[in-house]
Parts: sequence; structure tokens; C-alpha cells
Amino acid sequence: MIAHTQTLFGSVALVAVIMSGCLILVGQFNRRDGMLTAGLGMLCYALAYVAYTLFGHAPLWLTYGLANTLLSLALAFYTLSIPLIHGQQPPWRLIFALPACMAVLLALLIDTQEPRQLAACLVLISQCMLIVHFAQRFALPKGRAHLLLMIGASISLIGIGIRIVVIVGGGATEMHYDVSSLKQSISVGIGTATVIMLSLGLVLLSRERIEADLQKTALYDTLTGIANRLAILHKLADELDRAYRQRTSLSIAMLDIDHFKQVNDKYGHLIGDAALRHCVQHVQQRLRRNDSIGRYGGEEFLLLLPGTDAAGAALLIDQLRQSLAENPVRIDEHEIPLSFSAGVYGFIPDSQLDLTHPLTRADEALYDAKKAGRNQVRTALA
Ligand code: GH3
Ligand code: MG
Ligand code: MG
Repeated sequence: MIAHTQTLFGSVALVAVIMSGCLILVGQFNRRDGMLTAGLGMLCYALAYVAYTLFGHAPLWLTYGLANTLLSLALAFYTLSIPLIHGQQPPWRLIFALPACMAVLLALLIDTQEPRQLAACLVLISQCMLIVHFAQRFALPKGRAHLLLMIGASISLIGIGIRIVVIVGGGATEMHYDVSSLKQSISVGIGTATVIMLSLGLVLLSRERIEADLQKTALYDTLTGIANRLAILHKLADELDRAYRQRTSLSIAMLDIDHFKQVNDKYGHLIGDAALRHCVQHVQQRLRRNDSIGRYGGEEFLLLLPGTDAAGAALLIDQLRQSLAENPVRIDEHEIPLSFSAGVYGFIPDSQLDLTHPLTRADEALYDAKKAGRNQVRTALA
């Protein structure tokens, strides 16, 4: 079916104006979520299509030159939204150099036919490729929204490719915006599909980003960056289950920094915080790949050592203790000696065991280590 091209342009412009209004309305309340720039992109897109509807009734600089520059600006705003959604500084110059290029090329070539059409196509191709690149580069590990952006931009690349083939094949006049033909209907359809996919992709990308941030704050400790109590207990449950099914050893260790209150009292809370971070880094850097650490309480940490028996775990934790005790923390001009006490419990879980049992045993061993004078490791009997 061949649709009347300018009626199509008008309908797309109307839908795009409504969508841009919605995005701008929502986006102005949070300028960092990329919705405002996505809305501005949609607005440029709508204005481009309004200009296309005037083709043949208004000067070419408006209906071709300005219209395609607006289309190029729309793609630039979409591209810009991707790093903005991820809280990254966008490469403004690179992104906006392309619409500037479009404006200059069309100003120079406006009185030609094929060259101006090919120039416009080439700039749009570069922009779609930039969107594909950015979507890939800023993809979230478990995200899907970037795929919409990549598919949308790729569909657009196919559409522009078809236009180039028609132009090079001598059908440049067929691509005039006042001609109603099957090729034009397909071309407008492709353009519309692209812009819908890009806008939806950006909205969903922003949602994925917020969800990832929320998940991070729910599961990670903000001061040290390691798993928080909830996350390390979840991990313990998983490890217990695995050790039970595979009949392998699992060891846990409860660490508590010695006399940490004195560090706060002597140097202040901020330095205390920095010392806590240092301690975590020190331990974390020395753990093996499958071991985990989480912040169990204020300056108490829970370590999970899968596949390790109590003797092996006690040895490892004692090496950590020794290396921390021998390397005082340097913060500003202060040299702060730090040590920890630890309780270790290693076992092969049986079906009856719950989380409370190993935690209680490790905690009892930690209490013994503190009672015995601190800066030492105690192992709970199996
Ligand atoms: P010990 O464990 O050897 O018995 O002595 P302690 O002084 O470390 O005693 P305790 O474990 O009971 O005290 C914990 C101290 O850790 C008290 C609290 O001010 C401090 N603390 C807990 N969380 C933080 C934190 O996030 N930042 C800072 N700076 N201090 C913290
Ligand atoms: Mg302590
Ligand atoms: Mg404590």
C-alpha cells in the first residue's frame, strides 16, 4: 500500500510532538536521567518532519537543509542521553560536530540533487553508528535496553542504505519528500520505527540504571564498598547449600578490629572511617578468588572461605592478621597501628544446619580471641 508521504510526515510529527512533550515534562525534574535530552531529541525530530511536510511549498533551505539538520540534531540528543543516563561526561564536541557538519554540507550542496542527498545520508550513517557504539559501550551487565538502541540504530542504517542504493541507482527524484511511492512509505516507516525504539530504549535504559543503583545500595556497604550484612548472609546461605550438596568443607571467620573505639577517640571519626576502609582493602587484596568478605557490623567483618577446612582457614586468617598488624595504616600525617581478632569455624554442613549455628560458633571463637588478649585467631571446635 502506498501512503501519501506528506500526510505520513504530518502524522509522525504529531506523535513525536506528543512524545517529546511527555519526555520534556518528566525530564525537567531530573536533568541527569537523560530524559530531558531524549525529549529534546524527539522535539527536533518532530520539527524536522513538520519541515518535510512543506517540501515543494517552501524554500529548499528550510524543507531540506534545516529539516535534515534538525533530524541530525535529534540523533545527537539521543546519543548524548546515553552517557548522561550513566552519569558520565558526554563527548559534546564529537556528538554535536555531526549536526554541524550536516548544516555546513547542506548549505554548500543545497542546489545540487544527488550530492546533497548522499551527504545527508552519510552524516546520518555516522550518527547511527555512534549510537550503536555508545549503546554497546555503556551497556549494563544484565541490561537489555541497550539492545533496543542498537536494533533501532541498525534499522535506521538499513533504511539509509536503501536510500543510498536508490539515489546511486539514478532514482534521486523518487526520494523527494513530496513523492508518494512504496519506497518513500517504507523509508518513513523505518524512520518512525527507529525513533520509537530509540526513545523507548533510552527510557528503559534510564530505568535499568536506577534499578542497578538501587540494587547496589541495597547490597553493598557504602563506606567500604564490600557486601553489606544482608548480602553476605545471602552468600553464606548459598555457600552452605553448595557445601552441603557437594559434601565439601566450608569455613567462616568473624573478624573484629581491636580497640577501634580508641582510634576514633584519638584521631576522629573521619580518620576512623579511612582506617576502616584501609583494613578492608588490606584483607580483600589477600583473599583468594572464591573467598568473600562482608561488613557484618560496625567494625566486624564476616569472611566466607568455601572449600577450606578449619585448619586451612585458621592459617589464612592468621596470615592476614599478621600482615595487618605489621603494617600500620598511614592516613595524612598519622601512622595508626591496627590489628584484628578473629574466630574461625570450619565444617562440612549436614542437612540440619542453619545460618545461626556457624555464625554463633565463629562469634564464640572471636570472643575467646578477644578474651585471650586480642590480635589473635581462635578456632571453634567442630
Ligand atoms: P574491641 O573490639 O577490641 O573489644 O574494642 P573496640 O573499641 O573495637 O570495641 P567495639 O568493637 O565494641 O567498638 C566498636 C567501635 O567501632 C565503636 C564505634 O565507634 C566504631 N565504629 C563502628 N562503626 C564505625 C564506622 O563506620 N566508622 C567509624 N569511624 N567507627 C566505627
Ligand atoms: Mg572492635
Ligand atoms: Mg565490634
